[in-house]
Amino acid sequence: MKPRLVHTVQELRDIVEQDRQAGRKIGLVPTMGALHAGHLSLVKASLAKTDRTVVSIFVNPTQFAPTEDFDKYPRTLPEDLAALESLGADSEIVAFAPDASEMYPEGFDTYVTVGGAAKPLEGTFRPTHFRGVATVVLKLFNMSRADIAFFGQKDFQQVQVIRQFVRDLNVPIQIQMCPIVREDDGLAMSSRNRYLSPEARQDALVLSQSLEEARQLIQSGCTSTAEVERSIRAKLEADPDHKVDYVAIVAPDTLDPQGETIVKPVSILLAMYIAGVRLIDNIVVK
Ligand code: AMP
Repeated sequence: MKPRLVHTVQELRDIVEQDRQAGRKIGLVPTMGALHAGHLSLVKASLAKTDRTVVSIFVNPTQFAPTEDFDKYPRTLPEDLAALESLGADSEIVAFAPDASEMYPEGFDTYVTVGGAAKPLEGTFRPTHFRGVATVVLKLFNMSRADIAFFGQKDFQQVQVIRQFVRDLNVPIQIQMCPIVREDDGLAMSSRNRYLSPEARQDALVLSQSLEEARQLIQSGCTSTAEVERSIRAKLEADPDHKVDYVAIVAPDTLDPQGETIVKPVSILLAMYIAGVRLIDNIVVK
């Protein structure tokens, strides 16, 4: 049996109100669909910790800039439902797949603008992105009335942005970050990987490989921020067709840049274009 699919806020509210009355704990997994094993790891984490898992599937227009890939972003609802069904927990999962007009009805005009963690890195290269993310995520928190929301470390800065507005606006929810799920060769799973040609897919390994090399460099005793950055850039920029947006060596909680000397734990975040496809990846070195 497929998990229950609802399209309206009212249908979702009816389900979660009953859940709350019955004392069931609610988990939320926000996604834009095109589900892969990374998304499913979040759903599994929610199934393990809660009694009801709401998986939202919504390609959120407000987090895409006009030049970005909103129109071509993969929309695969039947396959997504089959992937959720494969987890064998149909009675616990509700898939919430609203239309844009359900999320942003006529007259909608309120946005959540986060400072702090939202400003650097993605905030510089995609200046309207986190406003769209924070707005839709807060709406999903309110609609689902979840106790815990599950996000992937794949979007590390996004998790910090969400933690910031949850703290700043006293939102009564717990945020859990789950590890990055990778392909066997190390590439971080992403819905956007399907844009890559076989050749670009191979080239994309420079992201995870350069991060792994940086981890080894730090673990072997290198404490120079500049040297670690140089080693990563040498790998990423070896092909002149690769365009790097940023290589950031930062404190995990604040995303503040490290000084000359690396102090652990340290996060290293990358964003770059491989054959016109923008990919991100990161590691935390403890
Ligand atoms: P998206 O559909 O890209 O908006 O992602 C929805 C959620 O899945 C976000 O919390 C992502 O961080 C998470 N996610 C995406 N890819 C991965 C991955 N490879 N491993 C773990 N979580 C992921």
